[in-house]
Amino acid sequence: MQLIFEKSVEGRRGFENPRSDVDLIAEIPVEYRREKDCPFPEVSELDVVRHFTALSQRNFSVDTHFYPLGSCTMKYNPKFTETVAAVEGFANLHPLLPQLKQGEKLVQGALEVLYHMESLLCEITGMDRFTMQPLAGAHGELTGVMMMAAYHKAKGNKKKYIIVPDSAHGTNPATAAIVGYEIVSVNSDGNGVMDLNELKERITDETAGLMVTDPNTLGIFNSDVDKIAEMVHAVDGIMYYDGANLNAILGRCRPGDIGFDVMHINLHKTFSTPHGGGGPGSGPVGVNAKLVPYLPVSMVDRRDDGTYYLNYDYPESIGYLASFYGNFSILLRAYAYIVMAGGEGLKEVSNHAVLNANYIKDRLKERFHLAYDRICMHESVFSASKQADRGVHAVDISKYLIDQNIHPPTVYFPLSVKESIMIEPTETESKQTMDRFIEAMFNADELSRKQPEVFHGLPATTPVTRPDEVKAARDINTNYFQNT
Ligand SMILES: *Cc1c(COP(=O)(O)O)cnc(C)c1O
Repeated sequence: MQLIFEKSVEGRRGFENPRSDVDLIAEIPVEYRREKDCPFPEVSELDVVRHFTALSQRNFSVDTHFYPLGSCTMKYNPKFTETVAAVEGFANLHPLLPQLKQGEKLVQGALEVLYHMESLLCEITGMDRFTMQPLAGAHGELTGVMMMAAYHKAKGNKKKYIIVPDSAHGTNPATAAIVGYEIVSVNSDGNGVMDLNELKERITDETAGLMVTDPNTLGIFNSDVDKIAEMVHAVDGIMYYDGANLNAILGRCRPGDIGFDVMHINLHKTFSTPHGGGGPGSGPVGVNAKLVPYLPVSMVDRRDDGTYYLNYDYPESIGYLASFYGNFSILLRAYAYIVMAGGEGLKEVSNHAVLNANYIKDRLKERFHLAYDRICMHESVFSASKQADRGVHAVDISKYLIDQNIHPPTVYFPLSVKESIMIEPTETESKQTMDRFIEAMFNADELSRKQPEVFHGLPATTPVTRPDEVKAARDINTNYFQNT
């Protein structure tokens, strides 16, 4: 496929701005002026539309393909939430309006959404307050761990370590390190959950806190988590819940009731917002009373007369984590989704998420090695170890699936399982879709017995086939992709 620059024809125009009758160039000092025009492609409107439409059709997306990506899943992205986010009264609000005395009146609806959203998230998770500011899951973790640090500082605690299990998402240890803590890792036991005896040895007076995902990235729920909370609290440590994926526990249990002090939620996973390519996301952070004083400002509070306002009066706040109030349009989508589903609807979500994941797990285990053979929650982790013995690795199976019009599952994560293939079907896929996926996986297994060498040339149907990864890393400027 040609680059848009290669489609350029001198003098061709799709759109022209009206000439300015002010000589703006004269305002720019000579030394900063361009000597030549920018080498923009010169193309017509049709050229632009066709070019980008063609590119968009080369994408894998939830709107076009089954997407069983474990952990960082695209869950359900209903279209009605797009309509809500596009409502003019929300979409065209100026973010500085609420800062003006007269402006506050004009944004009562938006503030009410933020306020009500906060109370819904508190109800769902058992936390006392939520900030909507963080712009992603990892950003939420940063916010939470900064509050943890503020708590220890205020209490004069000398803390050095944050404990994370070996199955943790990579952002957990990365966050703890950025805030300045050292990481202590705990291995999984034979059941795929944190080894309690090892944990006991790791907890000391210098433990600042523990970060866990539960169910963890193996899709396994750790039912000792309340005991773990007691052990961590005994040294005045903080329990952090990575709630990026809440679809397994919605309406079943609440991190706040189990003993967690702080958590984030990825609205762009669990609550209907599409994501990809780095954003936009939203990672609200909830805290219990212990950490409320440290929440970022501003918070949306309500006056006795029922009006809403931005409250900056949190003297111990960790400050701003993002400009304005978070990704408001993402919050709107999630809000609309939660209100539409209601309590019973959210329970249905966890019903289906867990049922679907167990269906795939039970069927695939005939042919693929299952890392931990027990009931899973929203996802399960297989290993391609049997296929690898025939020379076909997890990455080869991924490429095979692309040719079957299926987005590959997450592979090589978690690191604690070798040749791992992590599968999350999500709550909204039908049995027919899952059966088609299972059949494709069985066919991959069959092919690995008969013609393992075929895999190394896959995918065969995509515009770019398998790159030479070594060459791509060493020699980035080659024309490697241009003729494909
Ligand atoms: C996706 C995910 C994160 C990070 O969220 P981002 O929005 O990608 O920063 C953290 N933990 C878990 C378990 C996740 O699945």
